[in-house]
Amino acid sequence: VKYFKTLKGKRYNFPMFFPDATRGVIRAIDSKDIEDTKTPGVLVNTYHLFQELEEKTIKKFNGISKFMDWKGAIVSDSGGFQVMSIVKKSGSRGEVTDEGVIFYPTRKRKIIFTPEKSIEIQLALKTDMIVVLDDFTPSNADKKTAKETVERTIDWAKRSKDYFDKKTKNLIKAKKPYLIAVVQGGKYQALRKYCAEKLLKIGFDGFGYGGWPINESGDFDYKSARTISENVGKDSIVWGLGIGKPEEIVGCFKLGFNVFDCVLPTRDARHKRLYIYNTDSIDKIDVYKDKFYSFYSAGKRSLLNDNSPVSRVCDCLLCSRYSRAYLAHLFRIGDISAHRLATIHNLRFYSILMEKLIESRG
Ligand SMILES: [Zn+2]
Repeated sequence: VKYFKTLKGKRYNFPMFFPDATRGVIRAIDSKDIEDTKTPGVLVNTYHLFQELEEKTIKKFNGISKFMDWKGAIVSDSGGFQVMSIVKKSGSRGEVTDEGVIFYPTRKRKIIFTPEKSIEIQLALKTDMIVVLDDFTPSNADKKTAKETVERTIDWAKRSKDYFDKKTKNLIKAKKPYLIAVVQGGKYQALRKYCAEKLLKIGFDGFGYGGWPINESGDFDYKSARTISENVGKDSIVWGLGIGKPEEIVGCFKLGFNVFDCVLPTRDARHKRLYIYNTDSIDKIDVYKDKFYSFYSAGKRSLLNDNSPVSRVCDCLLCSRYSRAYLAHLFRIGDISAHRLATIHNLRFYSILMEKLIESRG
């Protein structure tokens, strides 16, 4: 795939970064704000939307994009990560069966979340790219457990694909969302390879990096990233699910990944952690250089006399209009606009990162 195409017919260059608009909103900012940061798309969370909104609301608005009046690309996850986190937490009532995930969000409520259900909700959301439900390989899994999660992931992927094909058989190709499967297998590279090959055979538009991308020494697991990228075919979308830190995005992009999503820029912004490029003009940014950025802590009292912008490199609303002092003041008095301006800034940092990677590809 050369471009990402939305159901509305818009095209975007890869790589793309999708910040998390979990419940159809990025905290503290609205769709117009997101647009102004030049962020091409957002990710919504299937499980949370399914909990918060009724199906008839989604149908009435003809999808989540229209509901939030978002004009860019929009993608959804399978909801699996949230559901699995609830179930695999020790002491929780619930289990993963071959049929699907069974759990009890409240004492009286029982939910069976199946691969088919996940596809059904995502099709109702009308997102441009949807992900099939998978069985998360725990980071401490032994080989036998890892193998079981891989087999179930493959089985669920097959069921998802069948269901997707049935539900979209009357749609022309341009009106079908991209369908993404998830490669599991934990640290076991042979299992990762096996999983990727089986999924590739079933046939998907793209493949995601499943499980925790952190190895036993606590570093980013590039080994698995490489195994996935090398075994999913040249023309696939390769999605670093939940990835990540700027340097991890660059590292995975070098290995062939072209889609990313993460809560980091928006969550960090609300914790006064801003990202700034370590150079003095936008043209000089080199994202392949070590330490190409640093963190800026926005709420310190000592900043109250600093008249300079947070970053001279950045052209966001915060940096083009307000001083470090004013932002520090807004944070210190606990005003919501501090969250808005900081979030806008961090999203612009990530959209510049994508622009630089696109440029570097030529
Ligand atoms: Zn800025």
